[in-house]
Amino acid sequence: MKTKLIDFSKYSSIKIGQQEDVSILEKCSDFTDKHYLLGSSNNTLIGTQPPPLIILSKRYDYIKIEDNILKIGGATPSGKIASFCKKNDIADFEFVSHLPGTLGGLVYMNAGLKEYEIFNNLINITTCSGLKEKEEIDFGYRYTDINSPILEATFKISYGFDKEKVELFKKMRSNQPSTPSAGSCFKNPEGDYAGRLIEAVGLKGNKIGSMEFSQVHANFLVNHGGGTFDDAISLIKEAQQRVLKEFDIWLECEIIILDERYIGKNSPLLKPSLL
Ligand SMILES: Cc1cc2nc3c(=O)[nH]c(=O)nc-3n(C[C@H](O)[C@H](O)[C@H](O)COP(=O)(O)OP(=O)(O)OC[C@H]3O[C@@H](n4cnc5c(N)ncnc54)[C@H](O)[C@@H]3O)c2cc1C
Repeated sequence: MKTKLIDFSKYSSIKIGQQEDVSILEKCSDFTDKHYLLGSSNNTLIGTQPPPLIILSKRYDYIKIEDNILKIGGATPSGKIASFCKKNDIADFEFVSHLPGTLGGLVYMNAGLKEYEIFNNLINITTCSGLKEKEEIDFGYRYTDINSPILEATFKISYGFDKEKVELFKKMRSNQPSTPSAGSCFKNPEGDYAGRLIEAVGLKGNKIGSMEFSQVHANFLVNHGGGTFDDAISLIKEAQQRVLKEFDIWLECEIIILDERYIGKNSPLLKPSLL
C-alpha cells in the first residue's frame, strides 16, 4: 500500500504533531479496522502515540453534476466545493466556504453553521460498506453514526448562489480567532455554550505553554506557535474538571483526539461516570 510522510505540525489546522507515515486509501481493501481515517485534520488533535493513520487518495477529489444531482468525492476540499457552487450558481452550500475540511470530514461531523448543516441537502453516501441513504443514517448536532470511509456523497441541487449569505457567514466568523485551532474545542451542552462556561470558570485567556483558550472566543483552543499535545490536553482536562465542579455539566470534546491513550471507552477525557 502507498504511504505518504505527513508533518502534522504543518498539515493539521492546530499545527500540532510530528511526522507520521500515513497510508493512502486507493481502494476499500486498503482500509483495516486498525486504521483511523483522516480528512484534512481541521477537527483533530494528533497525539504523540497516534493510531495508524490513513487518508483518501486524490482519486476521491472531484465534484460534478450528473442528472441534476451534485456528486462530490470524499477527499474534495471545502474550498473547491464552495467555488464550484458559486461558478454553477448552486444554492445552500455558501456556508461551506467558511468550514475548512474535506467532504468526508464535513459529512462525518455533520459540519455546519447555525441551521445550515451539510446534511440539509444530502441524498446519500457511498462508503466502503456500500450505499447509505440519508434516512438510514442517524445524525444530529456534529454527530453521525457513519462507521465506514465515505468515498462520495450526493446532494439535491437548487439554484441561486447567494452572495449575501457568504457575507453573513463571514460576519458570523468575525468573533472567532484567526490563530491556529481545530475549531470549537467542546460541543455546546444543551441549552448552554461551552465558551460561556469556560469563561465563567476563569479559563478564557488561560495559557499553558503556547496553548490558550482564546481571548477572542474561549471555546477555541489556539496555538500561538510550537504548542504541544500535552499542553493542549492539560487545558482540556482543566476546563472539563472546573466546569463539572462548578456547574455539574460535562464538556464533551468536539475536537477528535487521536492518541492511543485517549481513544475508546477508557479515555481519561470521558465523564467519570461513563468510564
Ligand atoms: C478555524 C476553524 C473553524 C471551524 N468552524 C467550524 C464550524 O463553524 N462548524 C463546524 O461544524 N465545524 C467547524 N470546524 C471544524 C471542521 O471545519 C469540520 O469538522 C470539518 O468537517 C473537518 O473536516 P476534515 O476533512 O478536516 O476532517 P478531519 O479533522 O480530518 O476529521 C474529522 C473526522 O471526520 C472523519 N472523516 C474524515 N474524512 C472522512 C471520510 N472520508 N469518511 C469518514 N469519516 C471521515 C475522521 O475520521 C474524523 O473523525 C472548524 C475548524 C476550524 C479549524
